[in-house]
Amino acid sequence: MNKREFLKTSALLGAGLAAGVTRISSGATASGFSYFDTGLNQAGEYILPMLPYAYNALEPYIDEATIKLHHDIHHAGYVKGLNTATKKVAEALDSGDYSLIKHWEREMAFHGAGHFLHSLFWKNMGPNGGKRSEVLEKYIVKSFGNFDRFSALFKQATTAVEGSGWGILAYQPESDRLVVLQAEKHQNLTQWVTTPILVCDVWEHAYYLKYQNKRADYITAFMQVINWDSVSENLSKAIN
Ligand code: MN
Repeated sequence: MNKREFLKTSALLGAGLAAGVTRISSGATASGFSYFDTGLNQAGEYILPMLPYAYNALEPYIDEATIKLHHDIHHAGYVKGLNTATKKVAEALDSGDYSLIKHWEREMAFHGAGHFLHSLFWKNMGPNGGKRSEVLEKYIVKSFGNFDRFSALFKQATTAVEGSGWGILAYQPESDRLVVLQAEKHQNLTQWVTTPILVCDVWEHAYYLKYQNKRADYITAFMQVINWDSVSENLSKAIN
């Protein structure tokens, strides 16, 4: 492939990716999988979801000034940062210049986790309390014994988060149970609320015998043995 053909193919691929983003976005909303209503705008950018209640709706438990500052300033900042990082990663894909990829991946994790977790957080709260479904109650009993035991664990674990972070109740598919987790500094280094479909272990034990300190050689080799059936299946499960 000469340079011209390469550029043409890249442009088509780029257009395909952009179209793909739109489809994925509407698909996620249609299946009801998305944790929040907003997703992406027409331009493919993340947007700040509306607060699902008035700023003062959670008084006196959470005060109006805190909610306003938290949603309008802090959460909006995450959205802006995530859009910048996403754009910079796309630019690296286009140009082939990955010299700043470590920085932008960190930024994307920090702002992405911030955006997704806050979007979930606003909807996890409400002025009317709501009611635990039978299914949720069943999973709480199965996982923790009863609601009071869950409640104590969640409170203790979340109080004990070192520095900045989150307390998280999550569904763990492997055990078909709920687990309580702590996220210390949510940027280390994931976008919580995303679903991994392909992972590469780069702990030294994964490659040191054969590749010693040549991690890049190991990753090149790893790319040759990826089972795309498995990755495809994981994607299907995640989007359904
Ligand atoms: Mn926050």
